[in-house]
Amino acid sequence: MLRITGGKVHDPANGIDGVVKDICIAEGRIVAQVEGGRSIDASGMLVFPGGVDIHTHVAGAALNFARGMTPENYRRAVPFLHGREQRAGLGGITPTTFATGYLYAGMGWTTVNEAAVPILSARHTHEELHDIPIVDKASLVLMANNEIVLDLLEAGELERARHVVAWLIWAAKAYGVKAVNPGGIVNWKWGKNAHVLSEPVEGYSRVTPAAIIAALAAIIDELGLPHPLHLHCNNLGIPGNVATTLETMKILEGRRAHLAHLQFHAYGGDGWGTMRSEAPALAEYLNSHPNFTTDAGAVLFGDALTITADGPWQHLLYQLTGHKWGNVDVENETGCGIVPYAYKEKNLVNAVQWAAGLELLLLVKDPWRIFLTTDHPNGGCFWRYPELIRLLMSADQRREALGKLPPKARKRMLLADLGREYTFSEIAIITSAGPARALGLMGKGHLGVGADADVTIYPEKAEKGLAFAYPRYVIKGGEVAVEEGEIRAASEGREFITHPACDEQIEEYLRPLFQKVYTMSFDNYPVELERLTRPDVRTCPS
Ligand SMILES: [Zn+2]
Repeated sequence: MLRITGGKVHDPANGIDGVVKDICIAEGRIVAQVEGGRSIDASGMLVFPGGVDIHTHVAGAALNFARGMTPENYRRAVPFLHGREQRAGLGGITPTTFATGYLYAGMGWTTVNEAAVPILSARHTHEELHDIPIVDKASLVLMANNEIVLDLLEAGELERARHVVAWLIWAAKAYGVKAVNPGGIVNWKWGKNAHVLSEPVEGYSRVTPAAIIAALAAIIDELGLPHPLHLHCNNLGIPGNVATTLETMKILEGRRAHLAHLQFHAYGGDGWGTMRSEAPALAEYLNSHPNFTTDAGAVLFGDALTITADGPWQHLLYQLTGHKWGNVDVENETGCGIVPYAYKEKNLVNAVQWAAGLELLLLVKDPWRIFLTTDHPNGGCFWRYPELIRLLMSADQRREALGKLPPKARKRMLLADLGREYTFSEIAIITSAGPARALGLMGKGHLGVGADADVTIYPEKAEKGLAFAYPRYVIKGGEVAVEEGEIRAASEGREFITHPACDEQIEEYLRPLFQKVYTMSFDNYPVELERLTRPDVRTCPS
C-alpha cells in the first residue's frame, strides 16, 4: 500500500490539471483510499501517469544485428541508473535489454510498444522483451509485405485474408499490426521500391500499395483490434513525400489509423537541394480528420542508428552517406535495413528534419492525437525525450537552437514563427494519456481509480536544465521501481497481446503453403503462449 501526498497531479484523462491531491495505491492499482502503508511526500513535485511509448524499437533480431554492427557505439556508451537490483548492460544508442528497461523507467516511462516484429523472429523478440525489466510491453507484427496475405488480396479472397491476419497476429503473440512501406519490401526483393501508390507491386496485377493499405485497415477494424493499423507510409525520408502521405490519408478516409513517425513523411521539394518542411500541410489535414493519430518521429541532432523494415530506403541512405549498411531478408514476410547515422545542425536536410518534427508537435492542435517519439533509435535515442520536452515547453529554447542552423535552412521551415509552448498537462497527454488511449490500453495513461499504478513523480523545477529527465520516484505496478536516481525494484512487466477470432480451419489452408515457401516448419512457427512469462491476453472482438 502506498499513498502519494501533496503533489500537483496532472491526470488529463480525468480532467485533473495540476490539482494537489493524494494518490492511493493498493495491489498494483490506483484506489480511492488506503489505510496505513508507505507514504511519499510529493510536495513541490508533479505527479504524472507513467510514460507510454507508442513507437520504439527495443527488441528482436534486427536490434541485435544493429548492436553487433556498431561496436563503436559501446566504446562510449552512456551510463545508466544504478541500484541494488541492477543487471549488467550497456547504454548508448541501442541499449542492451536490461539497460533499456532501466533507462525507460529511470526517465519515468512504464510501457513501451516494440513497433516492428516479423513473425519469423517473434520468438526471439519475446525472449528479449522478457529481459527488459520494469516496463510493460506490447509489440506490432509486420504485415504489409507478407506474401501469403498479398496473394489472397490478389485473388480477391478478403474473407480468408482476414482469418490469416488474425491467425498471424496470434502466432506472433503480437498486440497489433504494423504496415511498413506497403509493397515496397516485396519490390525491394527485385531491387526496386514502391513509390507510386496506385502501381501494382512486383509479381502482382491487382495488389498495389493503396490496395494493401485499404485492405489491412479494413481487416483490423473488422477484427476489432484495440489499436488501429499502425502505418509507416511509402516514400519515407524522400523529398516531396508529403504528397504520398496526403494520398495515403485520403485512401484511409473514414477509417482509423495511426501514422508512425510522421516527421519522416513531411517533406516538400523535388530533390535534396530543395527539400523543405511540409509539416503545416500534414498538420492541417490531421486537424480536420479525427480518424487519425500520429507520433512525431522527431529528430535530435547527434548520433542515431537507423533501423527499419524499409529496406529500399536504407539502401538509398547507404548510398547517400557511404556509412555501414546491413540488410536482412525475412523470407516471405519482410526485410530490414540498418545504417548508422548522425544528424548535424549544419546539414540542410537534417535541419529541415529537426524542424519538421517540432512543427508537427506544435501545429497539430489536439495533443490527444500526436505523441512524443523519436522512432528510437532512428531519429534519436528515447532517453533524450527530455530534450524534446524542453523544446516544446519553451519558444526561447527553440529560438536559441534555431540560431545554430544555417540561415538558408531557416527559409525551409516555419518553426521560428511558432510561439506555442506546451503546458504540463499537454506534456502528460503526448507522453502518456494520448498514446495509452490510442493503443487501447485502458489501464494506462491515467490515475483514476482502477488504473494500473504506474506513476512518475518529477521535481517541479528543471534539474540540470532539463525538466522531466530526473524523476524523484517512478512507481510501476504499485512498486517503487526508481527512487532518487536509483533502481529499487526491477520486477518483470506484463506483455500485452491480442487474440483475434479466426476460423481454426485456416491452419489447413496455411500448412501446405508453409511446406512450399517457408524454411521453418508450420508447427514451429507460432510462438507458444507458455513462452511468455507474464502475458496479458485480450480476446477480440471483446
Ligand atoms: Zn519505427
